[in-house]
Amino acid sequence: MITPGSELSADAELSCDVCIVGSGAGGSVLAAGLCQAGLDVVMLEEGPYATRRDFDLDEQKAIPMLYQDRGTRSTADLAITVLQGRSVGGSTTVNWTTCFRTPERILEHWRTVHRIEGLDAASLAPHFDEVERRLNIAPWPEELANPNNRKILEGARALGWEAGALRRNVKGCADSGYCGLGCPVNGKQAMHLTYIPDAIAAGLRLYSDVRAERVESAGGRATAVHAVVLDRQSGRPTERRLTVRPKVTVLAGGAINTPALLLRSGIEGQGRVGRRTFLHPVVGIGGLYEEPVLPFKGAPQSVGSHQFVDRGPDKVGFFFESAPLQPMLAALTASLIGKEMARFMGALPNLGVMIALLVDGLLPEDDGGVVSLRPDGRIRLDYPIRPFLTEAMGSAHIALARLTLAAGANEALSLHHKPRRMRDVMSMTQLAEAPYGAHEHAIFTAHQMGGCAMGPDPASSVVGTDHRLHGVDNLFVVDGSVLPTALGVNPSETIYGLAHRARGFVGEAV
Ligand SMILES: Cc1cc2nc3c(=O)[nH]c(=O)nc-3n(C[C@H](O)[C@H](O)[C@H](O)COP(=O)(O)OP(=O)(O)OC[C@H]3O[C@@H](n4cnc5c(N)ncnc54)[C@H](O)[C@@H]3O)c2cc1C
Repeated sequence: MITPGSELSADAELSCDVCIVGSGAGGSVLAAGLCQAGLDVVMLEEGPYATRRDFDLDEQKAIPMLYQDRGTRSTADLAITVLQGRSVGGSTTVNWTTCFRTPERILEHWRTVHRIEGLDAASLAPHFDEVERRLNIAPWPEELANPNNRKILEGARALGWEAGALRRNVKGCADSGYCGLGCPVNGKQAMHLTYIPDAIAAGLRLYSDVRAERVESAGGRATAVHAVVLDRQSGRPTERRLTVRPKVTVLAGGAINTPALLLRSGIEGQGRVGRRTFLHPVVGIGGLYEEPVLPFKGAPQSVGSHQFVDRGPDKVGFFFESAPLQPMLAALTASLIGKEMARFMGALPNLGVMIALLVDGLLPEDDGGVVSLRPDGRIRLDYPIRPFLTEAMGSAHIALARLTLAAGANEALSLHHKPRRMRDVMSMTQLAEAPYGAHEHAIFTAHQMGGCAMGPDPASSVVGTDHRLHGVDNLFVVDGSVLPTALGVNPSETIYGLAHRARGFVGEAV
């Protein structure tokens, strides 16, 4: 049953076995398993319950409805645009469907550096097998790649670089390209079409438009979740309150929001909550092609390259994908101004954009960003762009420009506020001399990770390998915030897999 908060006619108090805050990748996979095991589960979701009836391809409506902060979330210095979902299904409702298992080299890094035992490819395999089956995760045929993605393949082949088809969680995909605005044909196997209906069929009580504001705890146990009903249109809090008194509480509000909820609840985990927040910061290069590329049409991501994901122990690696360019998203993420913005938007049909996602959190000195609270309780995200990241941004720009020209573009252009335009390899010296970092060029993130890092030691992590908060017996975190580093691949499948594995730990705690 899904109840919009607006249907609560009075303040309400509920009790249950498990209260899950957040209905995204982590919360939904967990909820389905717990409900199917016979537990009484209440889920709170601050966003609306939106379905294909609401998904009419209108960016002006979809972005404020389906994204955190109505699509305006960013780092405190406004240097990085933060794309993050906010509706039933969480970021899976708007994500671009690329699915990867957690790379073995990352699991090995977690074992050796973060001392996380029991998370290896073999032990995770049954969980990944199961979510891949449920979400229909499979390679997207190379011949269906849209021109924007095909350019990565063509450029990589010309340069002798590795590149290949990506796997997607779709069934009956109409190839519209509108994944980021909510799938209009129910092709994307997002949570609101898969694990949430599974959970509801097994008894889940889901309240949408309800934001958990605080977890009450006493004597090392969480005792209640205090929530407020939001107005669906404005997203602002109303006077109406919902209090849940569960045996076990699970936070699954995603990176950034889950640490903020803990901080608001006075749970700071020895000062670790909110620290080690990673973003896979994204930089891009545009390519102007003779022929139309129509970057707003067709599966947004279907080809990727991991040629530079491991650049050795002293450098930040990066991997390549492309991004869909519907007009509003293009404008939001390109960060150009005035005439340059008009020129960029005017060229949209013939423009391709390849992106590099930086793999943050692997160097010993890279402890990422910090989530904290502003004096009025709102979220603040600081993410300093340190020299090892600016070096990677510069190297990524050069590699992307090479890839773009090798793919046949007439011109490669950087998304610096004063764009650098290149027609041949010689003109790329401009990129070597260009500045990199905050406020120099467009940077965005669609992959938020960390803030409640997993690990055995309360002095350096927030949750144990069983997702249980150190020091609070019946409080768990099951979402992207537990990742101790970025992944070097798109994170959704790792979060699905970890949530599938966490079902046992949470169930046992009831
Ligand atoms: C535009 C975009 C494209 C992406 N593309 C891909 C891709 O192609 N492949 C991939 O692997 N990943 C992709 N991602 C990222 C991926 O979807 C996320 O990493 C993943 O969904 C995160 O899962 P989660 O459970 O941590 O949080 P989410 O899925 O974000 O869910 C968290 C939910 O909790 C709710 N919530 C938060 N705080 C509260 C509160 N206090 N009370 C009640 N509810 C709350 C939020 O509203 C949200 O609905 C993309 C993301 C975006 C935004």
